[in-house]
Amino acid sequence: MSKVAHYLQEHLIGEVMTATDARRYFAADGSILQLAPALIVYPRNENDVRKTARFSWQLAERGRIIPITPRGAGTNQTGAAIGSGILLVFSAHMNRILELDAKANTVMVEPGIGYGKLQQTLHTHGRFLPPYPASLDYSTIGGAISENTVGEKSIKYGDTRTYVKGLRVVLANGEVIETTRLSKRELNKKLGLTTFEGEIYRSIDILLEEQHELVEQLQRDVSVNNAGYYLGDVKRRDGSFDLTPLIVGSEGTLGIISEAVLQTEPYTTDSATLMMGRFDSAEYLQQAVLELMSTKELPSALELIDQYALMQVNELNPNQLKEIMKPPYSPFILLVEYNGNDRSSKKPLKHARKLLEKYATAVQIETEPEMLQQLWKLRQATGTLIGHNDGQRHSTPLIDGAIPLDRLREYIEGLYGLLKSLNLPPSLWGRVGSGNVGLQPMLNLNQVGDRQKAFRLLNEYHKLVINLGGTISGSSGDGRLRTPYLEHMYGSELYALLQKVKQIFDPYGTLNPGVKFGTSLDDIKAMLRSDFSLDHIYDHMPRS
Ligand SMILES: Cc1cc2nc3c(=O)[nH]c(=O)nc-3n(C[C@H](O)[C@H](O)[C@H](O)COP(=O)(O)OP(=O)(O)OC[C@H]3O[C@@H](n4cnc5c(N)ncnc54)[C@H](O)[C@@H]3O)c2cc1C
Repeated sequence: MSKVAHYLQEHLIGEVMTATDARRYFAADGSILQLAPALIVYPRNENDVRKTARFSWQLAERGRIIPITPRGAGTNQTGAAIGSGILLVFSAHMNRILELDAKANTVMVEPGIGYGKLQQTLHTHGRFLPPYPASLDYSTIGGAISENTVGEKSIKYGDTRTYVKGLRVVLANGEVIETTRLSKRELNKKLGLTTFEGEIYRSIDILLEEQHELVEQLQRDVSVNNAGYYLGDVKRRDGSFDLTPLIVGSEGTLGIISEAVLQTEPYTTDSATLMMGRFDSAEYLQQAVLELMSTKELPSALELIDQYALMQVNELNPNQLKEIMKPPYSPFILLVEYNGNDRSSKKPLKHARKLLEKYATAVQIETEPEMLQQLWKLRQATGTLIGHNDGQRHSTPLIDGAIPLDRLREYIEGLYGLLKSLNLPPSLWGRVGSGNVGLQPMLNLNQVGDRQKAFRLLNEYHKLVINLGGTISGSSGDGRLRTPYLEHMYGSELYALLQKVKQIFDPYGTLNPGVKFGTSLDDIKAMLRSDFSLDHIYDHMPRS
């Protein structure tokens, strides 16, 4: 064990590990990148986190940087939960529900709690957290907050940020702050503090005052933009102030979350209505999506899967879809769901049906739970594509942009064209209501040719979404993989603004460096995992 590991083991209650196999395991997350930590800490409480941050800060003051990377379940697909220094793994011990407040309909949790476990508990109380990711069964709440995760219900209910009411955050120097919306008077108190917390409040307040025009330019015409930092809702017109929206989505680069208070929504198992529209043209598809998303009562889900994705599923497993849909498939299948309460008002349903009948070549409407389940299998079938590997070729997570809905047709055509130029088979699926549709191409990252294709896809794809006014990070954050494209997306002035935010919270660069800043395409090349797979998702808990 190194001196650093010894020191930490002496001062922390949680375990500290430096074993080679553990470091190798934690060198990977859900991305195509790898970076081994120097050591792993499994904090048992906030004090452990505080002490670790304080230790790293004190070393940094003396010129030695040992960075800290917080980690939930390591399922993000951009290299956000790997780091060369200390990996703080929250899922081992800091994984409890602390309080369920039935009056306020909130729940207080530690960050390492499994999302699925929390969701099940909430269900038993008739509540749920709506922006759950498809990975809820094997990811944590801390990861979801830090990635500002969105899910299938987000077009109606919004992103994770909408549900985070307050946080306890360990700052880079080990100080602990509680964030929530503050009145003007409460803010003034914070501004007067002589601590690091006070310094942060003062610097962010000044930044927002002086740069408010630039801050507005960070906005993109998409429902969720997870690129960079979200400064939009920190200071409101009424003078109220909240650091919570900024910490949400910051991927462990501004502070370490030790507790969170989340707002929940009523959960209903009422049956839903699911409509399926088949489309021949991207133009009509775009029009239908635009109109469905401009209604007052939004659908609870709006999902797209194209003919190529269905063909690939059918090729891999001819039985999977045979009861539901037979080839030849329509170019685009749109699934429109209205859940629970929406059924009581028939108007949105009638309107959606009319819209689909106007633009689609065929429409199917189901309300029986069994039929609903059947139809959903069309979209769920993309799981087969995401998890697929064939020898050394793996379904590879590279892209996750989102575009304004009125650019959907151009995006689809651009993406198909790009895939063709790379000699990669086309396919497309995703949350089209959020403008977040893409694919995971099959690549063998051991082969030079496929590596080159991966980088050309990254470069050209990001150009495409940026040119269409979209964001490079649609459903979750930038991680390391999209960091090289952040400046392209925002331009130098906005990028410098984001860097200032990082500098205010993390002056020594000890908090998850390389994420959002400081990773070049050459760094990405050096970190590429030739053996990419999702096998790291299996549990790996402390053994001491
Ligand atoms: C098959 C599959 C499907 C997916 N589907 C979706 C989806 O539908 N929507 C979506 O948005 N994402 C999706 N993801 C991506 C990922 O699963 C989610 O972003 C998930 O919420 C990450 O949670 P995690 O616990 O794995 O976090 P990790 O990967 O461990 O960490 C993610 C980030 O959070 C930071 N972090 C973790 N804990 C803390 C903490 N306590 N304090 C500060 N920072 C912290 C890490 O440093 C890192 O930057 C999917 C991934 C896979 C593999």
